[in-house]
Parts: sequence; structure tokens; C-alpha cells
Amino acid sequence: MIQLFHVTKEYPGDGPALQDVTLELDKGEFVFLTGPSGAGKSTLLKLVFCDEAPTSGQLLLFGKNVAKIGARAVPYLRRNIGVVFQDFKLLPQRTVAENVALPLEVQAMPDKEIRRRVKQLLRSVGLEHRAEKFPPSLSGGEQQRVAVARALAPAPALLLADEPTGNLDPERTLEVMQLLADANARGTTVLVATHDRSLLERYKRRVVLLERGRLVSDGDSIRRAPGA
Ligand code: ADP
Ligand code: ADP
Repeated sequence: MIQLFHVTKEYPGDGPALQDVTLELDKGEFVFLTGPSGAGKSTLLKLVFCDEAPTSGQLLLFGKNVAKIGARAVPYLRRNIGVVFQDFKLLPQRTVAENVALPLEVQAMPDKEIRRRVKQLLRSVGLEHRAEKFPPSLSGGEQQRVAVARALAPAPALLLADEPTGNLDPERTLEVMQLLADANARGTTVLVATHDRSLLERYKRRVVLLERGRLVSDGDSIRRAPGA
């Protein structure tokens, strides 16, 4: 599903944010990407979302070499990828239902079907009763559940989440993690960047550890604590 071969990413005027990273994620996996602030987690997610291009090395998404597909194909590739951010990134002047509908409208889904799907998605995140509210009137945990519903709306093969629980208290954190686990149980491949060690301990999943842009461990449990 995702293959990186010796990927290096340098931003102009900076040392490498990622250095010689080789990593493979299979369909159906749930993987934590961890490491201290500045380790390169966000950069790796941006490469996978085709927001940034590798400086060197190769990136294959769904078996396709991203460097060779051309800029015009990127939006089509992205239809297979849902994204969740730490700061939710909901549209404040659109209702909750409209936010979730957005990726479906982009796909030109018929209105009737959109309404049905949005209702079902909001029910799955426990927010049917908030459909007509505007995001700023919701709690952080509710906003992130809306963001997860929006990310999952097009039934993406891959879900990327960048510190999705970074702004949430422990209880809301578990609710949002449960939604990601549910999506994974239904077949979505999930990649979650987090520096929250308690999540890694609670959910025994594959953990990829980055430090200063290098992949330093990859396994079922962390052998070294992030930031140690
Ligand atoms: P993390 O998500 O693990 O905190 P990032 O991927 O955000 O790490 O950052 C990795 C390194 O790349 C850091 O040194 C950061 O300052 C640098 N960096 C990230 N984005 C940019 C950018 N747009 N321009 C320049 N440097 C950047
Ligand atoms: P986080 O670590 O929560 O992912 P950051 O605060 O590191 O977020 O980065 C926020 C935004 O700023 C990102 O889009 C990142 O690419 C950009 N950024 C990070 N470091 C730098 C940098 N040194 N120079 C320019 N942009 C940066």
C-alpha cells in the first residue's frame, strides 16, 4: 500500500527532515509513527499525501511510483486517502453535516445518496444530533470526531492521522482512537503519527520510531522510548 525506498526529504536551507527511510506498509495494517518533535513524522505523512515530494529515493503508493504519475493525477490518488489533523481543520462556516458531505460532493455523488451517507457517518461517530451545528460550537473531541467522519466519508483505502489526539483530554483521546481502530477493523489501512507514549502502550500495534529524520526502530512494541 505504501512503500518508501531510501527516501530523503530536505527542506530548503535545512538539514534533512527525513534521511534514507525505507518502510513498507501493507493493506489492512494499523501503524503508529512516533518519535520526538521534529523527528520527521509530519514530513513523512506529507510525502504520503503527496503534499511534498521526496528529495531523493522512491515512494510508491498503491503500487504506483508517485514521481511518475504527474501532478494532474494527484487529486485522484488522494481520493483514496483520508487525512485527520491535530487541529481538526473543519470549515467553521459550514455545518457539521456540510463538512462531512464535502469530500462526497467533490466526487459528484448524488445529493440523496450524500444525505444518506452523511447521516450514517455521523451516527457512526455518535454525532447525529450535531448535524446542523457549526464546528466552533462543538467541543474539541466532537470536532475531531467530525473530522474523522469527513476523512472516512469517501471510504478511503488509507487513513493518515497527524497527532489526532494532540488537543484532546484522555477520555476524548480514547473515543477518537476507537474510531480509527473501527475504521481499521473494516479494512482501512491506518497510519497515525503521535508522540503520546500512552497510546503506544495501550494499543499494541506496529510502531515505527523516527529520530532526527532516521527510522531507528520498527516493531510490534517499542524497544526504546520516544524522546529517551
Ligand atoms: P515532527 O512531525 O516529527 O514534529 P516534522 O516533520 O514537522 O517533524 O519536522 C521535521 C524537521 O523538518 C524539523 O526540523 C522541522 O523544523 C523541519 N521542517 C518541517 N517542515 C518544514 C518546512 N516546511 N520548511 C522547513 N523545514 C521544515
Ligand atoms: P507539528 O509538529 O504539530 O506537526 P509544527 O509546529 O512542527 O507542527 O509545524 C507546523 C507547520 O509548520 C507544518 O506545516 C510544518 O511543515 C511547518 N514547519 C515546521 N517547521 C518548519 C520550519 N523550520 N520552517 C518552516 N516551516 C516549518
